[in-house]
Amino acid sequence: MRNYKIALLAGDGIGPEIMQEAIKVLELIEQRNDISFELIHADFGASAYFKCGHPFPDETKAICDEADAIIKGPIGLSHEESQKIPLDMLPERGALLPLRARYNTFANFRPVFLPKALSHFSPLKPEIIGDGIDIIMVRELVGGLYFGEKEVGVNEQGLRYVKETLEYDEEQIRRIMHEAFQLAMRRKKVLHNIHKSNVLKSSVLWNEVMEEVATEYPEVEVRNQLVDAAATLLCLNPCQFDVMVMENMFGDILSDQGGGILGSLGLMPSACKGPDKSYYEPSHGSAPDIAGKNIANPYSMIGSVAMMLEDSFDMPAESKNVWDAMQSVFADGYSTPDLSKPGSGVKMINTDEFGDKVVEALRAMPKAV
Ligand code: NAD
Repeated sequence: MRNYKIALLAGDGIGPEIMQEAIKVLELIEQRNDISFELIHADFGASAYFKCGHPFPDETKAICDEADAIIKGPIGLSHEESQKIPLDMLPERGALLPLRARYNTFANFRPVFLPKALSHFSPLKPEIIGDGIDIIMVRELVGGLYFGEKEVGVNEQGLRYVKETLEYDEEQIRRIMHEAFQLAMRRKKVLHNIHKSNVLKSSVLWNEVMEEVATEYPEVEVRNQLVDAAATLLCLNPCQFDVMVMENMFGDILSDQGGGILGSLGLMPSACKGPDKSYYEPSHGSAPDIAGKNIANPYSMIGSVAMMLEDSFDMPAESKNVWDAMQSVFADGYSTPDLSKPGSGVKMINTDEFGDKVVEALRAMPKAV
């Protein structure tokens, strides 16, 4: 029997609620397969700051170091609550970016998926969705503006100023490009390279390296797209996209737009891959507006578990079963309130009911071989 240690960082806001549903799925996967998971809970985010004085406590670091994979819930507080935490202890700055840096999780994969049958979830018209949306956004996750040097001060004219640095070296660009091209090879062999080279020198280097890497993947058709136009085209014609590759901040913003065109950020799981360890997290935040109400959509968290099964534990068949189980809940006409607005015809269920239905559907599926 294979044994894996999984660190569970439930995080803040809706994090613990959707983590609970992910755990139900993990427990069933143990029962169905010759595998055992040691699930180790650890404090992370604003809740960790209030409990232990740091959003990424040393004890959590030790648990993550030992783990075979990490599942992380969303972190963060409302704008008002955030004022209670010193700037460097804020969950993103004090926990999320350090987690990414610690394991060098440079490649972030964010599926934006909505089959035709669920086009009613989307704010886009059915004719725009056509046969369905099926995109994977590949976001560089440990470089660029979020990790560059920062300077805050008062200049010679007595004006407050801030300086943040957007930095990439060619190796950082090359490795994310290889990930994106390899993914494109496994899919439709079309890669949209998202950039802003009409303004940013970082994008000029990004494109230069992309072209060098492209010579190793002659079968992949590269389509270059300015990031601002890409934002528009995601609304007007999302089906033209299959694999999209972009730098850190572009990916942060465009992937939230991805959630928007699906109808909810609750449909956005993700995988963050490093050379030795990966972690898995919903792409969205802690949704303070709905926290504690048992109404968050746990798809993003359970989908992140599905990505872990395939990428970290080499269980592609069981991973597909988890995806299919979630789709079957939607196909039966159910969803959480984010996707079951009055008049939509969708039957509204709570977070825990969604998890129960996924488990029920998965239990009914033949075991993966
Ligand atoms: P958010 O992503 O938390 O929420 C945006 C909207 O989407 C809200 O209306 C929310 O209710 C909805 N939503 C998000 N996830 C949902 C789900 N699973 N089911 C149903 N609805 C869902 O963005 P925000 O409100 O701007 O940020 C809240 C906090 O999260 C902030 O502190 C922010 O810094 C943090 N944040 C953390 C991460 C992360 O942990 N990786 C990512 C983004 C934002």
